[in-house]
Amino acid sequence: MSDFDVTNPATEEVVATVPLAGAEQADAAVERAARAFAAWRDVAPGDRARLLRAFADTVGGHVEELAALEVAEAGHPIGQARWEAGNVADVLRYYSAAPERLLGSQIPVPGGLNVTFAEPLGVVGVIVPWNFPMPILGWGAAPALAAGNTVIVKPSELTPLTAIRIGELALEAGLPEGVLQILPGTGPVAGRRLVDHPDVRKIVFTGSTRVGKEIMAAAAPGVKRVTLELGGKSANIVFADADLEKAAATAPYAVFDNAGQDCCARSRILVERGVYDRFMELLEPAVKGVVVGDPRDPATEVGPLISAEHRAKVASYVPDGAPVAFRGSAPSGPGHWFAPTVLAGPDPTSLPAWDDEVFGPVVTVAPFDDEDGAVRLANDTEYGLSGSIWTRDVGRALRVARGVESGNLSVNSHSAVRYWTPFGGFKQSGLGRELGPGALDAFTETKNVFISTD
Ligand code: NAD
Repeated sequence: MSDFDVTNPATEEVVATVPLAGAEQADAAVERAARAFAAWRDVAPGDRARLLRAFADTVGGHVEELAALEVAEAGHPIGQARWEAGNVADVLRYYSAAPERLLGSQIPVPGGLNVTFAEPLGVVGVIVPWNFPMPILGWGAAPALAAGNTVIVKPSELTPLTAIRIGELALEAGLPEGVLQILPGTGPVAGRRLVDHPDVRKIVFTGSTRVGKEIMAAAAPGVKRVTLELGGKSANIVFADADLEKAAATAPYAVFDNAGQDCCARSRILVERGVYDRFMELLEPAVKGVVVGDPRDPATEVGPLISAEHRAKVASYVPDGAPVAFRGSAPSGPGHWFAPTVLAGPDPTSLPAWDDEVFGPVVTVAPFDDEDGAVRLANDTEYGLSGSIWTRDVGRALRVARGVESGNLSVNSHSAVRYWTPFGGFKQSGLGRELGPGALDAFTETKNVFISTD
């Protein structure tokens, strides 16, 4: 077991030192989870619901503490960090209603009774990235627990502190030992051990498409179930008939929120050619108005990037001579700061930032000529996670929404993930869906039972 220094990305100071689990600790966690499963699956639905509600209340009572940890380890602005902690409580409360509603069906058959049961899978591994450490933990763990599974969460080594605290709060709330465990460790060691372990029946992975493919391949020998939530390169499509003022005022937040470290970032803005110049005139002050700074300040809208290494990767998309249309501002001094940056120019679709998920505050703007052209450009990517459509023509909004190959679209808005609606990606943005009323399907097997009346 080695140690990892968790650092504050806004100050570069060490916040905590966390021991990293090796393969043996991962195995021990799986053994505990497998033992706890036998009892947890048999907890009466009403009691499991009550325990999840108590867990939700306990998390809800610690929003300030969890938000402060998120500010310290991830550099998220305090207002957003509070929202993220509250989201964990909300998601737990939403799925606390599920154990008593885990319905099967009765199907008419001759000579007997045919019923289905939704059986829990067993031990579920939830592998979480650093960009939204708290919500993503909750989106995987809450429905898995509600369905009667036991859960091991492997947070990113960069941001393990909120997960560790949520694990303690679960025990305080009365969840039995072993039902929810937190396993801080690196991906290739602790994460991979969960993927390879025969007693882990399902992996929920959120992270890069590169690692997602590795996990899918590693899960194949055991036919292990996977849900994959991967990268994105989403389009924000602005038609000439849109409310241009509103589209331009909101576009920066649709890509620069969380310093662009958001799988749903609308990192390509497509603008109908006739209003392109006007849109850019409106976009410039909006970008310059984004408040980038100290995450502890409630007025801050955008914080730093997660690490020096990640900052260097983001900066590589804006080399000297890059076609920068305009930039916002960012602090100097310690911290991994990067000013919001807009790329445009004669040939925007040839830029590396057009194709790659930059995962930083960099957006590319390109013009289009008509509806078909807009859909073609929007689909010119291996990803398909999110996107927005701005138009006052409802027919066009629907046609384009149906045409864009993406799991989550928003018209005349940039809706964030709502836990009571399904979330997930087309194409290489993922496999399966999280959240919404159907989430328990991903954490149960359907069992069909026929009972003869003869
Ligand atoms: P990452 O793929 O590097 O790591 C994600 C998690 O996987 C971490 O916990 C890491 O330790 C672990 N991991 C790494 N290698 C592993 C391996 N070989 N086996 C098992 N686990 C392993 O991603 P990241 O840099 O932490 O996060 C950024 C990425 O996450 C972006 O691509 C972003 O789009 C994606 N993301 C997707 C969604 C979504 O819902 N679609 C949401 C948030 C982030």
